[in-house]
Amino acid sequence: MILVTGGAGFIGANFVLDWLAQFDETVINLDVLTYAGNRENLASVAGDERHHFVQGDIGDSTLVAGLLAQYQPRAIINFAAESHVDRSIHGPEDFIQTNIVGTFRLLEAVRAYWGNLQGEARQNFRFLHVSTDEVYGSLAKDDPAFTETYRYEPNSPYSASKAASDHLVRAYHHTYGLPVLTTNCSNNYGPYHFPEKLIPLMIVNALAGKPLPVYGDGQQIRDWLYVKDHCSAIRRVLEAGKVGEVYNIGGWNEKPNIDIVHTVCTLLDELRSQEDGKSYREQITYVTDRPGHDRRYAIDASKIERELGWKPAETFDTGIRKTVQWYLENQSWVANVQSGAYREWVEKNYTGRAA
Ligand code: NAD
Repeated sequence: MILVTGGAGFIGANFVLDWLAQFDETVINLDVLTYAGNRENLASVAGDERHHFVQGDIGDSTLVAGLLAQYQPRAIINFAAESHVDRSIHGPEDFIQTNIVGTFRLLEAVRAYWGNLQGEARQNFRFLHVSTDEVYGSLAKDDPAFTETYRYEPNSPYSASKAASDHLVRAYHHTYGLPVLTTNCSNNYGPYHFPEKLIPLMIVNALAGKPLPVYGDGQQIRDWLYVKDHCSAIRRVLEAGKVGEVYNIGGWNEKPNIDIVHTVCTLLDELRSQEDGKSYREQITYVTDRPGHDRRYAIDASKIERELGWKPAETFDTGIRKTVQWYLENQSWVANVQSGAYREWVEKNYTGRAA
């Protein structure tokens, strides 16, 4: 039995679905269902008795302690977080609460639970914390990619809150001996990605005939990984990672944002051509850059490749094609997501801006 937190969000839901497709082991899925948590992401496992969904907060110590005592999981994979940089700029409070205080309370509950385990159960237990490359800050054009020993230099309230959570996880290992693993991954893309993030936003806006808002000059470089490759890397770290270690996860796919937008448009031109023959590129609109926008992230994934033999299955070309196809085939998922909290948020925050 494993406990997954944040398993109704983008990466967590992909992880739960892949897990249940591959193993018979039961998943307890603890998710408070913020605007980003969506039960519809888990529709294909509704009724599967290996999946127990619990709506609740990682910061609710009583609830978490009760779940741990009841289900006795052998591992916890912590995806739960506030995850959107723009939102952290508009309102950092929730990021501090969930990413820092929530992770702290979760660690405390896990420490108490693990402290009472005996023998093999205690020895084999793992707490895997899912984090981001954004904790390392921004790279100049020719800097080498982030390794696991790169200094922490977070620049947004989001990345600062994730950095704090990474430090707490590290401290619980060094201070209390908790068997932790931390992964820092590059930008993910793929199915069930909430359309406030670059790739799904571009697909959804393009199809709706809306402007495709690109921040600044569009030359910010990000390193992209197909979400299912992130999930396979997490499974591999859980299985074979060395306790107390950090593993960077990435696909060696550095690309400027504007190239990503062009690729999405090219695929849409091919897969959903417009009647008037226009390219979706004509909808691209440059908008004022995000404050403190990091210029470049790049992950050096050689440690996980060398030590754990993990490699991504998708190239960027195959992954982005699958992603665009998924959005074309799942228009009702998009419509349902947009009818709720997301639309309210976009209307509130993008008034007067192109989005
Ligand atoms: P997401 O925003 O799509 O999902 C987060 C989930 O956590 C949601 O289902 C939400 O309801 C839940 N949640 C939020 N606060 C909670 C709380 N207090 N208690 C319980 N559940 C709560 O995020 P995502 O993109 O799936 O990211 C998952 C994790 O991976 C995050 O920790 C994020 O920092 C990390 N990460 C994301 C990326 C990326 O590109 N998306 C890259 C690297 C790392």
